[in-house]
Amino acid sequence: MIRLFSLAAAILLTAWLWSLRAPGAPTHQVFWGGDILTMDGDEIAEAVYVRDGIIVAVGEKDAVFDAAPWNTHRVFLDGETLMPGLIEPHTHPLASALLGAATDISGTTHSSRDEIIASLQDAAGKRGLSPWLVAFGWDPAMIEGLVPPTRAELDAIAPDRPMIILTQMMHEAFVNSAALDAAGITADTADPDNGHFERDRDGNPTGRLIEISAIAQLMAAMPQAPDQAMALLLSLQYDRYARAGYTTIGAVGIVGRARDPLAVMRTVSTHSAPSINTLIYTAPEHYAHAQELWTGESDTALNGVKIWMDGSPFIGGAALAEPYQTSHFTETVLGLPADWRGTLNYSAEDANALVLQAQRAGYQIAIHAQGEPAIERALDAIEAAQMAAPNPRLHHRLEHLALITEAQITRATDLGVSLGFFIDHITSYGHILPDLVGQERTQRYMPVGDAVRSGAVVTLHGDHPATPVNALRVLTSSLQRQTRLSGEIIGPDQRITTERALQAMTLGAARQLGIDDQVGSIEIGKRADFTRLSGNPYQLSPDQISQLTIRSTWIAGRRIDTRRISLKNAGLAFDALWASLFAQDSPQ
Ligand SMILES: [Zn+2]
Repeated sequence: MIRLFSLAAAILLTAWLWSLRAPGAPTHQVFWGGDILTMDGDEIAEAVYVRDGIIVAVGEKDAVFDAAPWNTHRVFLDGETLMPGLIEPHTHPLASALLGAATDISGTTHSSRDEIIASLQDAAGKRGLSPWLVAFGWDPAMIEGLVPPTRAELDAIAPDRPMIILTQMMHEAFVNSAALDAAGITADTADPDNGHFERDRDGNPTGRLIEISAIAQLMAAMPQAPDQAMALLLSLQYDRYARAGYTTIGAVGIVGRARDPLAVMRTVSTHSAPSINTLIYTAPEHYAHAQELWTGESDTALNGVKIWMDGSPFIGGAALAEPYQTSHFTETVLGLPADWRGTLNYSAEDANALVLQAQRAGYQIAIHAQGEPAIERALDAIEAAQMAAPNPRLHHRLEHLALITEAQITRATDLGVSLGFFIDHITSYGHILPDLVGQERTQRYMPVGDAVRSGAVVTLHGDHPATPVNALRVLTSSLQRQTRLSGEIIGPDQRITTERALQAMTLGAARQLGIDDQVGSIEIGKRADFTRLSGNPYQLSPDQISQLTIRSTWIAGRRIDTRRISLKNAGLAFDALWASLFAQDSPQ
């Protein structure tokens, strides 16, 4: 009887696992029956023939059908639109995966300081999975009057449980006394490189942490989830990218907590079902370790290193040529000193040495640079490295570029440096820019139009978790440049067309990542990475574009399984459960 029961259970389990399998890809496929945006110029094709995941014919329907054998599997688009898979060149998958599980206190879901404090109190009252309370999204640029929380205020909310509040821009955090105690941070603790612990007059930490290195030092004290649980969270995050239409991402600077973040990414990338293609940029000091991990075949590869030349403008961290605007926002909310211009994280000497090291070794460097002096120092270092060790095939990249000048755009173009813009700054924070940098600089903030006109390789990114994973929002932001809160249009002459924006999000991003020989357009010989949309964005207004839906995402002719309960995720969940039950090195 028991044996019969076990047999039945085994059959049911097998059937269930079978139903979770990711669908395979037929050898021969033709996609037809809707507009096919090739990104090969502005050309629109009628059909595309894919063999073994590679594009072998594209163009008019009859010609493509003739090229394919009789037993070809036909994917009818039903009047919808197919385009090359979207590429997100600058995102933080691991941090996004983790913050998906944190208490949300963002400006998208809250409208006042009181509401945020209530959310924190609510979270503190519940027993979470983690012994620490982690909240994410503190955003004074989005919520008026959001003065920083004091250590005493946080102690009142969570007297015993360590609590950390991460700001939306991730360059600043606030912690309570329990968190400082757990991390052993006292008046005697030295500041880390490129960051600091704010202190009161007696030298005691106030609980405000400035810059990534200070936050990382505190978070090192947090108990860790098993790597297997991290792998599951990461896999779920990859599904979010796929649902948003992305087939490839650039993981630029591995920010996120895990014993070995790179090893966790390795686990997910080598799991059986195909996942998002990922190109990794590590901190310079982790590059050697990453090289050891990525020697074999996988959908994740190592592309280079990432450094931060300056910080976020919205906390006064961007290094500017002229002082920040004097306003209530900069003086009271941000607490910036008079005539503050921000600071650079690297001396010219150190920046030159880092870029030269990358140049000599033949790997790309991605440099976070927001203000003019940060961009200038990055360009100086790149130019010096190119002179010292010429390598015409190696193109470095600059990230975010809030206030890049026309002269700097020209210089970057001449140096073959690609320009990646964080365009959501306009949508989410455009309303606060006049108070932050004044009118003149507001109008030339994120000058994507100038960059496109210069002929540089231009890309657009969402920098998640700084913004939600939403490719259509990135697209419409660059078309409209309209602020979400005030409805104003910022720098109308910096708007670009749908064609140029989509090109930046496909072929431009492929060029930036150095993979345009494989993806980025629907051309013969490239991999069949596709995004299927409910309509053709070329024919729609920006408002209509934001209403489009992503129907499906394909990698090498194989439809990505984005169901939350897929075989892959079930397997990872099982591993995570197993590890947490039988962990040899149990969490501290
Ligand atoms: Zn970033």
